[in-house]
Parts: sequence; C-alpha cells; structure tokens
Amino acid sequence: MVDVTDLADDIRVGKRAAISRAITLVESSRADHRAEARELLGLLTDPSTGSGGAGGDGGAVRVGISGVPGVGKSTFIEALGTHLIDEGHRVGVLAVDPSSVRTGGSVLGDKTRMSRLAVSPDAFIRPSPSAGTLGGVARATSQAVTVLEAAGFDVILIETVGVGQSEITVAGMVDTFLFLTIARTGDQLQGIKKGILEIADVVAVNKADGDRAQEAEATSKDLAGALRLVHAGTKTWVPPVLTCSALEGTGIDTVWNRIIRHREFLGRTGLREKRAQQQLDFTWALVRDELDQRLRNDPAVAAVRAEVREAVLSGEMPAATAADRILEAYDS
Ligand code: GDP
Repeated sequence: MVDVTDLADDIRVGKRAAISRAITLVESSRADHRAEARELLGLLTDPSTGSGGAGGDGGAVRVGISGVPGVGKSTFIEALGTHLIDEGHRVGVLAVDPSSVRTGGSVLGDKTRMSRLAVSPDAFIRPSPSAGTLGGVARATSQAVTVLEAAGFDVILIETVGVGQSEITVAGMVDTFLFLTIARTGDQLQGIKKGILEIADVVAVNKADGDRAQEAEATSKDLAGALRLVHAGTKTWVPPVLTCSALEGTGIDTVWNRIIRHREFLGRTGLREKRAQQQLDFTWALVRDELDQRLRNDPAVAAVRAEVREAVLSGEMPAATAADRILEAYDS
C-alpha cells in the first residue's frame, strides 16, 4: 500500500526514488496498483497544486525520436540531452519498445549507452516497460510523462524503434516527432516507409561526419524532395531535413531549434488542440486494448477457440462465420 499523497509531494520536489516508484506503479497491471496510479495522477495533474510541467504553456516539450537500430538514437539523445541540460533544462528520457525480441544492442533507454546523461541530476532515464501489449506500454509511458512533468522535467524525449505500430503510438504522445536516419543510396531510400515520412515533423540524417558527410548531405536533399511530395498541396508544416553528427555533437542545436520552431508553428492553441485530440485518440486506444485483453482472457472464447481454428484451417468454416461464432461465445 502506497501513501499516494506523500508520493505526490515527493515527486513534486523531484525526489528520484519517488519518481522511480511512481513509474513502477503506473507500469503495473495489478488492479490495486492501477487504482493507486489513477489517484496519484489525479493529484499530480491537479491545477490547484500548480504542478503539471514546467513548460509554461501546458507541460514539457514532448519529443518522439525514432529510427532503426544502429542509426544513433542513444548517441543522439546523449548529445541532445547534455546540450539541453547545459542550457538549463531538465530532461526526461522514456522508451517505447513493445517487442520482446531485442536485437543488435538496440535496447531502448539503456543507461549504459547514455553514460553522461545517466549520471546527471538533471536527467531521468527510464527504459521501456516490458509489459506485453503495445497498449499497455503506451499507457505506462504516457503516465510516466505526467510523473516526470510533475517532477519538473521540462523536456521529455521518448525513444522508439522504427518498426511497426510503435512509432504511431509515440507520435500520439508527443508534440513533435523526430525521425533519425543515416545516409542511404536511392534504392535504400525507397525502403523508408511512406508512413514514417507522414508522421515525422523533423528529419535528421545522422552520422554526417568523416567520409560520410557528403553522402549524408545528398541523402538529406533526396529526403527533402520526397517530403515535399508527401506534403504536396497542403499548406501545413513541411518537415525540414537536417544533417547532424551525434558522435561529434555537430548540428544537434539546429535539430533542437527546428523542434522548437515546429512547436511555435503549432502555436499555443494548436498545441492545446493537438494534445486534446491525442487524449481522445488515446482514450479509444485504451478501450480497444482493454477489450482485446478481455477477448483473450474470456473463458467462453477459449472454449470455442480450438474448434473454430480447426474448422477455419480445414476450410470447413468461412472466416465471417468463424468470427460470428467467437463473438457469440464472447457475448454469451
Ligand atoms: P541506436 O541503436 O539507434 O540507439 O544507435 P547507437 O546510438 O547505439 O549508435 C550505434 C553506433 O553508431 C554506435 O557505435 C555509435 O557510436 C555510432 N554512432 C552514433 N552516432 C554517430 C555519429 O553521429 N557518427 C558516427 N560516425 N557514428 C555514430
């Protein structure tokens, strides 16, 4: 049993143990923990207590950072985070990684790969919750954002890998979405999913150093062209494409500058509307996730599952009939 009021007070004065504890609480799927988490978040977002982020215009600057493993996300976050701390910011780093398979050292939010940030009192790094579904991870992460904002972190960086649905999920939690890539040839550029270009607000070609600098420059021109096509005919923000070297620390401030410019483009009202819409979308995502869980755990569904599977695989039962059978079992 947690004393939620004490915990909220400790978070507001920035006690790290309390922040860790609160994030563990919001990551838990236990019913009693979820109730405590709701109470805690209620206290932390209560406007009468004057908390809820140091951004001044509705919380922290929330930035999503995505890119395939090896592109330099950790190195970039280390460089950007240190730069921001030098400017007087306090930086929270979270990660969304729903896959249980972690390949090629791509563990997100790994403190050992952000060694300077990890020891800074002005940074708080939290690896991705390992909780099963993407919905569960998303719920935990978005609540962790609230905890960090209440603790006075005014920049929140959310890291994710460039696979599947996780980018879309992160885009739904942040004000600005940064897509990191590296120099590629024309053919490889085709491999960049159109979807990512649609959700990116800022694009940066990393590893623009040494003999890769020129290649990175060429890639950034190609990508800028591709983005103009994706956004053709709209009067909205066309994502800028920049080059940087996370390793050498060059171009990082320009990337940050564009992130801030994107926020200014949204404006106060635009940002408020964007966040409100995100909350609404997130509400339905949570409902769908919960329904999915209930469907999975339903005993009546479990009872017909094997039979329906056999019937569908052998071609005896059409999919639509099979779906009806499962839904009937669920509704019964
Ligand atoms: P992540 O998997 O996206 O988090 O990538 P990492 O940050 O772990 O970087 C993968 C590898 O690329 C590491 O060996 C880094 O040192 C290297 N790397 C990252 N950024 C740069 C950069 O700007 N230039 C160069 N040359 N190497 C980099």
